[in-house]
Amino acid sequence: MKTDIEIAREVELKEIDEICKNLAVDKYDKFGKYKAKLDLSYADKKKEGSKLILVTATNPTPSGEGKTTMNIGLSMALNKIGKNAISVLREPSLGPSFGRKGGAAGGGYSQVLPMDEINLHFTGDFHAITSAVNLVAAILDNHIYQGNEKNIDPNQIVWRRCVDLNDRALRNIVIGLGNRTDGVTREDKFDITVATEMMAVLCLATSMEDFKEKVSKMIVAYDYANNPVTVDDIKATGSVAVIMKDALRANLVQTTENTPAIIHGGPFANIAHGCNSLIATKTGLGIADYVVTEAGFGADLGAEKFNDIKCRLGDLKPDATVIVTSIRSLKYHAGMPLDELAAENLDYLEKGFKNLQIHIENMKKFGNNILVAINKFASDTDEEIALVQKLTEKLAVKAIETTVFTDGSEGGVELAQNLVKVCENDNEFNYLYDEKLPAKEKLDIIAKEIYRAKEVVYTQKAEKEMIRIESLGYGDLPICVAKTPYSLSDDPNKNISAKDYEITIRDVRVNAGAGFLVAYTDNVLTMPGLPKEPNAYQIDIDENGEIVGLF
Ligand code: ADP
Ligand code: MG
Repeated sequence: MKTDIEIAREVELKEIDEICKNLAVDKYDKFGKYKAKLDLSYADKKKEGSKLILVTATNPTPSGEGKTTMNIGLSMALNKIGKNAISVLREPSLGPSFGRKGGAAGGGYSQVLPMDEINLHFTGDFHAITSAVNLVAAILDNHIYQGNEKNIDPNQIVWRRCVDLNDRALRNIVIGLGNRTDGVTREDKFDITVATEMMAVLCLATSMEDFKEKVSKMIVAYDYANNPVTVDDIKATGSVAVIMKDALRANLVQTTENTPAIIHGGPFANIAHGCNSLIATKTGLGIADYVVTEAGFGADLGAEKFNDIKCRLGDLKPDATVIVTSIRSLKYHAGMPLDELAAENLDYLEKGFKNLQIHIENMKKFGNNILVAINKFASDTDEEIALVQKLTEKLAVKAIETTVFTDGSEGGVELAQNLVKVCENDNEFNYLYDEKLPAKEKLDIIAKEIYRAKEVVYTQKAEKEMIRIESLGYGDLPICVAKTPYSLSDDPNKNISAKDYEITIRDVRVNAGAGFLVAYTDNVLTMPGLPKEPNAYQIDIDENGEIVGLF
């Protein structure tokens, strides 16, 4: 089979005006021939009867699940059977592109294009976020330098600078060295742009007005009396809004089959909720009949946060959840070695099915319609596919074989037809917990119902933070758990057989602007590093202006 880049280069792209015309969209600004920023007003009004479909997955493994590929293939297949469908996806970060090979724009015959631009600067949204975050930092440090009117405690500054690259040397730094006029000396840290609260705020805002409101509430530090100091307190809200004016608007591109796709926003899926922006999803619902969106990692992290954070804050009601899985990954979950996964093995598969089963049971708790999409890899046998279908059917859910990677829309027609059918069913969508419950009770529900833990325990630090958060009045925000994606539990190696385990909360932080609490089960790296042989060594541009080595 051809490589992703070869397939991408063979596609005859349509000019973005034509894609807009097919969607009856006329309020947009073009970014070159193949990208456009859509007017914010499309996010205001849902098209009558439009359906929202979440693509999620079993726990990720090195053998690949293919959520993004499936998302794109499914929306292309819906178009193929005559529906007006759109993919709504996250924007990739620059950091990983130069670290590890492989973009985040789908694969095979199900990709979004132009993939090099999408994977690089795209329409500049992430640069805007980077500038906005660093502007707040500059204003904050200047505030302290100019007399510290707000009594900010330099030991309690929570705002960090950012850059959208993997740069481990910026994890812990000292700023303000030099003369007295060079600023106040203090320790500081950088995050990768996609890990900032600004990114989460961009992704949870529903309008410019709402964005400003959220920005104003973000906490930058605490004062000597332990009161929070916000972006608004240091008078930075208006400037941030101006920098972010265009970044707030959803970006329209196309798929390998010239169907529409929106790509906008991309927060981390552990310390944040891991979904594209609400504005993008709502814009999709404003212009298409079927909106196919995704959430990062497996359903334990991604789908739970999509439902309990994004849908709650954005007042969305999804119509169906598609759980993507692969034969290879189910066998891997049961302990089959990575280099043997190509061999048929029904025993490993049946054992590994438990991972899919738990995700199906979990998703049923949200009362939503569910389908399973088996992402077929070349080595999968008919017997293996049949076994997963049989076991899934026992749970009263349909599992459909799909080949969107090798066949594009043709490989997703059966999935699309079934999806249209289940979207007609009554849908009793509900959240997992009531946000008004005390924070600890909410965490208890997530840990027991989704991660299948017996009990939640707290370190002393987490206990203290919990008390502070409740006393500051942030206790009734939804909860975002930062946990390993590689298993259902808080231990990447303790997967499907984990029983009677305790989940440990090590720290709790408040994202007062984005509107959720983050509970850490682990130390999450918010500034990744480069590997010994970074992909950057291979990347170049040739004499024809063509980029090589990026994918
Ligand atoms: P996710 O969104 O779940 O991280 P992606 O859709 O990005 O997954 O897919 C992960 C990688 O696996 C990509 O490089 C993609 O091209 C590849 N891939 C996905 N499905 C298949 C398949 N059926 N056969 C071979 N490779 C695939
Ligand atoms: Mg993806």
